[in-house]
Amino acid sequence: MSRLLIDNVRPFDSRRGVLGPVSRIVIEDGRIAEVTAEPRSVDAAQRIDGGGRVALPGLIDAHVHVVASSHDLVGLASQAPSLLVAESSRILREMLLRGFTTVRDAAGADFGLQEAVARGLFEGPRLFIAGFPVSQTGGHADMRPKGVRAREMFCSCAGLGLIGAIADGVGEVRRAVREQVRNGANQIKIMAGGGISSPTDPLEGTQFSLDELKAACEEAEAANLYAMAHAYSPRAVTRAVRAGVRSIEHGNLIDEATARVMKTEGAYLVPTLSTYAALADEGERLGWSRAMLDKLDVVGRRGIEAVRIAQAEGVPIVFGTDLLGHMHARQNGEFDLRLQAQSPVQALQGATVTAARLMGQEGRIGELTAGAWGDVLVVDGDPTRELSMLTRPDAGIRLLVQAGRLVKSSLPGRDR
Ligand SMILES: [Zn+2]
Repeated sequence: MSRLLIDNVRPFDSRRGVLGPVSRIVIEDGRIAEVTAEPRSVDAAQRIDGGGRVALPGLIDAHVHVVASSHDLVGLASQAPSLLVAESSRILREMLLRGFTTVRDAAGADFGLQEAVARGLFEGPRLFIAGFPVSQTGGHADMRPKGVRAREMFCSCAGLGLIGAIADGVGEVRRAVREQVRNGANQIKIMAGGGISSPTDPLEGTQFSLDELKAACEEAEAANLYAMAHAYSPRAVTRAVRAGVRSIEHGNLIDEATARVMKTEGAYLVPTLSTYAALADEGERLGWSRAMLDKLDVVGRRGIEAVRIAQAEGVPIVFGTDLLGHMHARQNGEFDLRLQAQSPVQALQGATVTAARLMGQEGRIGELTAGAWGDVLVVDGDPTRELSMLTRPDAGIRLLVQAGRLVKSSLPGRDR
């Protein structure tokens, strides 16, 4: 048995949103064995002194694309899978070093990447995968330029990429969802409304018929999974949650009435503010079309307001980023953006316990309790008051442990 002792830390109780008394965290064989303030001797192979600092559960980003090594999604689809995987391994490693010990991939990553991380071949966050996003013809994940008729234009790149499984009609939607289940998806991603990066769909439009949306949710539930839906407008969000979608991705244009429907239906909101901020800065230089930049302008302005509305209506809000290419480096900037609408504790809960609830992983990730994975960050400062230690993770995160394994440390410790 391997045992790691993290001594002299104040654990963040993510459920209650408060700091506990100075304690020790004992991790055995990758799992937390106990978190206790009682002074008694524990025999451990590795012992680290937290110096009275705060310990957080490893962070969760619930909307990433670990294969998005470029902002050019169409270009990605024609890249060699081997190169895509090599690029993804770097993205994964950098995410982990930013404090994210678990991520929910919102389409693109496959079971091979997930297995590579699980076996320790790649250093990275624990991966929850969606496989291909399911999209209607002309929907947000149909990346074919206007005029292209061949349906299988982008299917050469086996399990990887962000190009959708195109499905029209209840039967095809069921088949597309079942394909993702067959390939080991942990959640099903569907495109329920227009998007920014897609060439032919209006932002305010809805996608899929109600019957198709219901079929997707039904198939996800049949496999003990759930559906996450890309949607911006009140109409698209309302239809999706009424059909049984558990999490609304982005949701920038929601109003009070929509937030109330989300609350009633038990849906979560996963805003991704940092990607709009990044694209507002860089979109033009990256060669995005005027039409895309105009869409971006509409959702960018409304993103923070949507978080405020959801927060006021009591909708659970989860941390997400949705960054592409070199913009991944802005991942922790999401915390700063959220502080315009949330308290530090609310933002932290979104990246820990609330994310775990959404993913059906309560008790396993997002909290420092016995039985959970031994994912622990020890940080400078008091994250219940401000989050600069997370927005500058190189300096602010002093210790990073994933499943009991030391990833990085600048704290005094000793091996027995
Ligand atoms: Zn996304």
